[in-house]
Amino acid sequence: MTVPHITLNDGFTIPQLGFGVFRVEPEETERIVSDALEVGYRHIDTAAIYGNEIGVGRAIAASGIPRDELYITTKLWNSDQGTQSAFDAVDLSLEKLQLERVDLYLIHWPVPKRDLYLESWLALEQIRENGKTTSIGVSNFQIEHLERVIAGSSTVPAVDQIELHPAFPQLPLRTFARGTGIAIEAWGPLGQGKYDLFSMAPIAEAAAELGKTPAQVVIRWHLQSGIIVFPKSNSRARMAENFDVFDFELSAAQISAIDALDENMRVGSHPDEVS
Ligand code: NAD
Repeated sequence: MTVPHITLNDGFTIPQLGFGVFRVEPEETERIVSDALEVGYRHIDTAAIYGNEIGVGRAIAASGIPRDELYITTKLWNSDQGTQSAFDAVDLSLEKLQLERVDLYLIHWPVPKRDLYLESWLALEQIRENGKTTSIGVSNFQIEHLERVIAGSSTVPAVDQIELHPAFPQLPLRTFARGTGIAIEAWGPLGQGKYDLFSMAPIAEAAAELGKTPAQVVIRWHLQSGIIVFPKSNSRARMAENFDVFDFELSAAQISAIDALDENMRVGSHPDEVS
């Protein structure tokens, strides 16, 4: 199965569908990521704060998959924002992942109260120059944070990874990102199972019409909306289900009906409140 790739603003490409490992227990991570690689995922999204980079690294090493066929993202945690602390943090992440470089390194949250995100962004530019990551981006940045790093550096972030699902489609941020060439990655793409997305009528009806599951419909909505997406599941059956989304399409009417589910409802924290 061929996963489509999106070309980022630095010319590098990213598989549009991947596998996320938030809340995957460290001792289970090697097995779960190995399952995901066997199912066919080649894009793994982790973070220093998830505490499972060692397991991700072990699964990659054990897989025997050539490095250039894999796309690995990790993230700078909030308490490591700054210059030297960011340099140290990426080195530690690379050591745990058993990699010489990641494909994408992100600032995890802006933490505006500490006001270190611009300095950290300049550090990420150097980390990229030093060959420790191919691309650099941000996560949970709002328009004002993006404007500041764009104005204060010579790099437009390749991606902004934000909470995004049908009940919280983040239209203003997506419009800004489109205008500035930033690709959008969705976290919590299935709403983290925190509310009943799957029984909402436009999703349930599209699933019934197409003979697909509601999760597959939601993933397809992300893909057809141009969003990079990496749903998480510990279950191999669900990993396979979430990967099996390339033999059908939602109609324009089905997409519009799901678009109309916008409730401006977060399931996660507001970026201004995370420190
Ligand atoms: P998600 O929306 O992917 O939801 C995961 C939950 O959905 C699973 O625990 C499971 O209960 C359920 N699920 C998965 N597949 C299903 C299926 N086929 N049918 C029914 N239920 C299913 O939420 P997430 O894990 O928070 O987000 C995905 C990834 O995004 C994370 O693993 C992580 O890599 C990333 N993330 C980033 C941030 C950030 O701040 N940058 C925050 C949260 C998550």
